Amino acid sequence: MTREPIDLRSDTVTRPDAEMRRAMAEAEVGDDVFGEDPTVVRLEEEAAAAMGTEAALFVASGVMGNQVALHLHGRPGCEVICDTASHVMNYEMGAMAVVSGLLPRALPAPGGLLDPAAVEAAVAPEISYRARTRILVLENTHNLAGGTVCERARTDALLAVARRHGLRAHLDGARIFNAATALGTTPAALAAGFDSVMFTLSKGLGAPVGSLVCGTRDFAYEARRVRKMLGGGMRQVGVLAAAGLVALRKGPANIPEDHANAALLARGLAELPGIDLDLATVQTNIVIFRVTPAFFGATSGEDFPDGTAAAFLVRLRERGVWAVAVGRDLVRFVTHRDVSRRQVETALEQVRKVASTPSAAA
Ligand SMILES: *Cc1c(COP(=O)(O)O)cnc(C)c1O
Repeated sequence: MTREPIDLRSDTVTRPDAEMRRAMAEAEVGDDVFGEDPTVVRLEEEAAAAMGTEAALFVASGVMGNQVALHLHGRPGCEVICDTASHVMNYEMGAMAVVSGLLPRALPAPGGLLDPAAVEAAVAPEISYRARTRILVLENTHNLAGGTVCERARTDALLAVARRHGLRAHLDGARIFNAATALGTTPAALAAGFDSVMFTLSKGLGAPVGSLVCGTRDFAYEARRVRKMLGGGMRQVGVLAAAGLVALRKGPANIPEDHANAALLARGLAELPGIDLDLATVQTNIVIFRVTPAFFGATSGEDFPDGTAAAFLVRLRERGVWAVAVGRDLVRFVTHRDVSRRQVETALEQVRKVASTPSAAA
């Protein structure tokens, strides 16, 4: 029996649906570098409305959105407070240093949550021989912490620290619609008070390409210049924005199902011997868990030179289920609109089969 692989590597793997493809084919377009693409203009207006900001700018990717914002908020030699497991620190190729000369001041954030007192303590005092701290970056939902959400009360406490010390605050809200769904609120409510917010269309919302970086009208004007500098000035890009509009309007309705599927997956995994999974971290569409040697019936890690996560993933892939490692013994599953509840159940069955199959050393 062969079946379609069940792809739980990321919510970025979704393919544009028929409605998106139709919208792309029929999109009204113009040269967006001249500001003349009506579909992009509409997407930017609707994105700004969703985030509660004056304006928004369509960018090629989430990384580009984050980096445009950081570039505008800081100056070379300044420090950026973020957390050690943040996307800007781990998955953006050191761009804040390369593109903007910024220095990350990374703090641990258990559960993806920075501690306001720790942030306050990390702000450099105003002394002639200290680099200035200029930016605070928060991530909601937090990817590497397992898709955890940051509640408004903590955000307020962190923003108060930022204000007290004159820091600009940027929200990496790649999955802000997931956060809003889990917290029963709106993206605008979670984005309020930040100087800028980035969110992606190409993750849980299901678009093939694109992110938005949102803020004041002045911010968006300056962001357009930085985007161009980075090579992100696109022309008849309404063909992409058209899919993005469908994603923005229709995508959020699908997110509760993705969260229910992640919860189902997590409960099934947590029951298996040799898997360590803290169910409290499963709040949205990401499930991160530790695979111990015991999962394979082994007593020590010595049998797994490439790590237990790699051994787990190879066996699972043979059974048609794809996921990624986020550490030597950490595996990440992400649910999205292209995996059904039935497929999640199948994925769980396959994990159970891997667990019950006696294995030779990896
Ligand atoms: C995916 C992601 C990004 C970057 O998005 P790309 O479109 O892949 O560049 C930024 N921040 C977080 C938290 C993400 O999960």
